[in-house]
Amino acid sequence: MISKYQVPIPPKLLCVYCSSSTTLDPKYYAMAEAVGHGLVARGWGLIYGGGCSGLMGSIARAVHKSKGHVVGIIPEFMKAREWAYNEADELVTVGTMRQRKQIMEERAEAFLTLPGGIGTLEEMGEIVVLRSLGVIRKPLILLNQDGYYDDYIRMLERMAGENFIPRGRDRLLAVAPTLDEVWDKLGA
Ligand code: AMP
Repeated sequence: MISKYQVPIPPKLLCVYCSSSTTLDPKYYAMAEAVGHGLVARGWGLIYGGGCSGLMGSIARAVHKSKGHVVGIIPEFMKAREWAYNEADELVTVGTMRQRKQIMEERAEAFLTLPGGIGTLEEMGEIVVLRSLGVIRKPLILLNQDGYYDDYIRMLERMAGENFIPRGRDRLLAVAPTLDEVWDKLGA
């Protein structure tokens, strides 16, 4: 299959969870762009929440600048608020946030979390739980840019240390302090 950018549709989609905020330190947008360019260079397409703002918009535009493929999954109410990245090669409109997460989970080959807020944490949290239960075995990488997720990682380690997480933190997700380590861990 050929996308509207006349490039082959990649066989594997990387699901990226990240912030929708437009008022972050510029280093976060720069990283999202680097992720977008890097994933295309390694043969991945992007699947994400279909937003046009924040890190979500930055990564989608970078993927297109690199002539890659963008799949966005967005709830109708967000589209109605003009939050959608309408240039996506495939923009799937769904009724609920739950349907959005389900489609991203089903279609992705792997998951990557960039810095984000409560929406990002919630989306990644579902993958963490499904991995812990063995329902999903696809890789989940947390990009801990400049230690942004240090407190979250500490919380997981405490949970593991006190046996709230039965089989240890590493089973849930892989932490990558740098983008190079993200690609290493993805085997990309
Ligand atoms: P957060 O990490 O809180 O910025 O959440 C990212 C997620 O929040 C996205 O996947 C969306 O579910 C949602 N979201 C919140 N505001 C927006 C917006 N303006 N545009 C698109 N998605 C948004």
